[in-house]
Amino acid sequence: MTPARAPRAPRGRDIGLDVRAPKEGCDDRHCPFHGRLSVRGQILEGTVVSVAMQRTAVVERTLLNFVAKYERYEKRRRRYLAHSPPCLHVPVGHRVRIAETRPLSKTVSFCIVQDLGEASRKVRGEESATAAGPEPEGAAP
Ligand SMILES: [Zn+2]
Repeated sequence: MTPARAPRAPRGRDIGLDVRAPKEGCDDRHCPFHGRLSVRGQILEGTVVSVAMQRTAVVERTLLNFVAKYERYEKRRRRYLAHSPPCLHVPVGHRVRIAETRPLSKTVSFCIVQDLGEASRKVRGEESATAAGPEPEGAAP
């Protein structure tokens, strides 16, 4: 994924994805950069909707599902609980990239690996129109 090694933070580990290790360090053993957690499997993008739990964030993703009867797309949401490493300091409302890990608890098997910055309201609703491929307007005759 990273043929030319970008300069990384001194303590940050290369996790095998094309993301930059955070500038800050941490002592979280479930941090993919500074702990021993390996990430493998799915990589998804979503918006953080809650950080009320300790080191765990709720990440929501919007999908478009085609309904054959009406020849239109309906909006669907899916929420993932993702481990939020303390070195990333991800706040509510930011777009994040999450990567699949081994199960960290009963409900957590993803970890935030990249903060993509603040999500605008507009992007929140229409994010998967570009990500998932099908255009809702163009498909219906
Ligand atoms: Zn860390």
